[in-house]
Amino acid sequence: MKLVLATHNQGKIREFSQMAAAHGIELLPIPEELDPEETGLTFMENALIKARAAAKATGLPAVADDSGLVIEALDGRPGILSARYCEGSDADRRLKILEEMVSVPAGKRQAAFVCAMALCLPDGSILKTTEDRWRGSIGYDCRGENGFGYDPIFQLDGRVETSAMITNEEKNTLSHRGKAWRNILDFIRSQPISV
Ligand code: IMP
Repeated sequence: MKLVLATHNQGKIREFSQMAAAHGIELLPIPEELDPEETGLTFMENALIKARAAAKATGLPAVADDSGLVIEALDGRPGILSARYCEGSDADRRLKILEEMVSVPAGKRQAAFVCAMALCLPDGSILKTTEDRWRGSIGYDCRGENGFGYDPIFQLDGRVETSAMITNEEKNTLSHRGKAWRNILDFIRSQPISV
């Protein structure tokens, strides 16, 4: 079946695509110019804004996620602002976090990646939502070349690696987005969509 994936983020597209293929789902891109304003106050509100906009624009069912890094010592920042926490690149945003965390001791550096995901139809109705977490902590420097965004500073619990040091396959098994996408895929398998 065909499903529109409401993102322009290449890192996310890679992660979604790997699991979709195994379920016989063809993921279609959104139009280049489609970039709805993320005015929601929660991850879920923003996921719904993106999924509804993509489904309406294409006339097909669409899935979207809104995700980000939530850091306890920073009162939950960067949170829903993860993609735009400061001007510049992902590298600039990682450095800003490391600077803000510089005096936070080991043991108080807990963090979690959060992913809200929504599956919507062109008429705006919601078929399924899910919100999932991946717990870890913030490291002291950037390590690893895989993944995207904050992966090089996200230290896995009980491991020496960051999420930028594991394979894409292992990240899909452990991650917030992998868990959420499996929940959506399970839903589609149990209730095939007819538009
Ligand atoms: P969104 O596209 O508005 O959902 O922004 C999500 C942002 O959160 C990304 O641009 C990254 O900065 C961060 N993020 C979400 N998931 C991950 C991940 O799996 N690894 C690293 N950073 C992530």
